[in-house]
Amino acid sequence: MRCYFCASPNTRVVDSRDGEDGTAVRRRRVCEDCKKRFSTYERVVVVPIRVIKRSGRLENYDLGKIRSAVATACRKRPIGEDVLERLVQQVDQDIRGLESTDVDSKRIGQLILERLKTLDQVASIRFASVYLQFQSIEEFREAVDEM
Ligand SMILES: [Zn+2]
Repeated sequence: MRCYFCASPNTRVVDSRDGEDGTAVRRRRVCEDCKKRFSTYERVVVVPIRVIKRSGRLENYDLGKIRSAVATACRKRPIGEDVLERLVQQVDQDIRGLESTDVDSKRIGQLILERLKTLDQVASIRFASVYLQFQSIEEFREAVDEM
């Protein structure tokens, strides 16, 4: 980070502390050349993610859709709302951890399925049958066998 006053590249951090709500870090820096001090903020950059639909159309990523898809698959299963929400958050992290910010809808389906598998078999089979749109009963059977 260059000095705000003299543009020297020789600055160093003298203090670092969390912002009030924990979403930012405030750093005090000092310039080794002009000795002046200034502050910087560091926060997470939220990159917008787009979903590539089956039709090839791009759509804004919407965590609400994932939540409702998972909730539908888990209907009447013995899964608490907090457990469900944790799964949704994990899927969200999986998606944000991908290299590309344009994500295939099928890829999202697979990520959800991977998480669901470890949670509830019935829910994961339900989800797979709806969201992975099997072409044949054999394809469906294979997926079920894999579980
Ligand atoms: Zn300076």
